[in-house]
Amino acid sequence: MYDVIVVGARCGGAPLSMLLARAGMSVLLVDRTQQGSDIMSTHYVKRTGAAHLAKWGLLDEIVALGTPAIRQLNFHIDDVHLSGVAPGVDGVEADYTPRRFYLDRVLTEAAVLAGVELRDRFTVNELVFDGDQVVGIKGHHGGQEYEERARVVVGADGPRSLVAEAVGAEKYIDAGTHTCGHYAYFNGMRDRNDAASLFINSKERRFYITFPTNDGLDMVFLFWPTELAKTVRADLDAAFTESLKFVPELQSRVASATRETRISGTHMLPNFFRRAHGPGWALVGDAALHRDPITAQGITNAFTHADILASELIAGLGGGKPVDQALADYDRTQFERLKPMFDYTVHLARLQPLPQIVETMLPSVQGDPAATSAFIGAFLGSVPLDAVFPSVLLDQFENEVHEAHEERRHVA
Ligand SMILES: Cc1cc2nc3c(=O)[nH]c(=O)nc-3n(C[C@H](O)[C@H](O)[C@H](O)COP(=O)(O)OP(=O)(O)OC[C@H]3O[C@@H](n4cnc5c(N)ncnc54)[C@H](O)[C@@H]3O)c2cc1C
Repeated sequence: MYDVIVVGARCGGAPLSMLLARAGMSVLLVDRTQQGSDIMSTHYVKRTGAAHLAKWGLLDEIVALGTPAIRQLNFHIDDVHLSGVAPGVDGVEADYTPRRFYLDRVLTEAAVLAGVELRDRFTVNELVFDGDQVVGIKGHHGGQEYEERARVVVGADGPRSLVAEAVGAEKYIDAGTHTCGHYAYFNGMRDRNDAASLFINSKERRFYITFPTNDGLDMVFLFWPTELAKTVRADLDAAFTESLKFVPELQSRVASATRETRISGTHMLPNFFRRAHGPGWALVGDAALHRDPITAQGITNAFTHADILASELIAGLGGGKPVDQALADYDRTQFERLKPMFDYTVHLARLQPLPQIVETMLPSVQGDPAATSAFIGAFLGSVPLDAVFPSVLLDQFENEVHEAHEERRHVA
């Protein structure tokens, strides 16, 4: 009997397990993949996420792996070019871009060091219930079947979460899918070690992200409207080449480089919040909240979930408050904290023309270093969105999510 079983050993599950074990709890962490394996995901960790790594004592290890520290963001929005340095978070003044096989390995090693029992290549097949209370998991590893029990089972098992499915956790916000995104790594296109660039071409409905990462490579990530997913997937090379034409600066950097990997990506980039707690269970990371990677928010969200849920479970399982209350408080807190950036993400992912308000504000932002820093900080999460955007615009973002949700309900 464990205090907590966590299914999924990556950005949500590994730090949650580590924090619980550091507080003296017995934790079983399982994952069907091998520890230290890669996963389909780029890896821009915003300073809001890096501040968690620093607090947990793991940022130095990430830096020691040769991970670039990104201080400057270049934000090219049609003809407006903003370059600036956003405010830091809790003394962390940069974003970091560790490849996932490095990041996830550091996270699971830290969990094991804290006393977590890690079983990789362990697949969970079903949950064990006592009435409506989740009391354990059943799974297999190396040809053998296992049943394990815990006071709480946490699904950190990604957007198609088995735990969410088993408990029937509904998507109470489902704002649909708006982009498809594909990326590759290049050698020889680096211009700076400490800068990342974003490009929006609103006429062509394209979004581009590029940043330096470990081992001398640079990552290039292109987004298309989801309507083009079939065409893009039919010939990824051609789609990449065609799309780069709309951003000559990026096109020439890529032309001077060698592509070192195949082009990876997906058209399955939904935007939803799921109910993330119930009797004996909780969800963290993409299992609870999935959003388009256009704002590179997923890893940071998973860290935030781990942080909040760990505090609540330490209180709940330690007798400081009823466990059910602790789980409900976790769910409410994460929603309140993460919803505004979710709305902004969905807005950007729709790849629609710039709102009039943004078009009007951009020229003055461009000429003002403090306003540029704040605008970039809003994207990175180090400046509250309502410090940069008027409430009428934030209402618009929220309404767009609401309308997308209603539209999907209507179709369903
Ligand atoms: C193309 C793409 C690009 C992205 N780029 C960025 C970015 O630049 N920055 C950023 O912050 N975010 C990015 N994201 C989002 C980020 O990848 C996710 O938000 C993050 O991985 C969520 O972590 P997680 O731990 O919740 O889930 P995951 O990383 O999905 O891990 C879930 C784990 O659960 C395991 N699992 C699932 N089912 C079972 C089972 N039944 N039994 C045992 N184990 C199971 C899986 O093997 C997996 O290891 C991107 C996503 C995509 C798709």
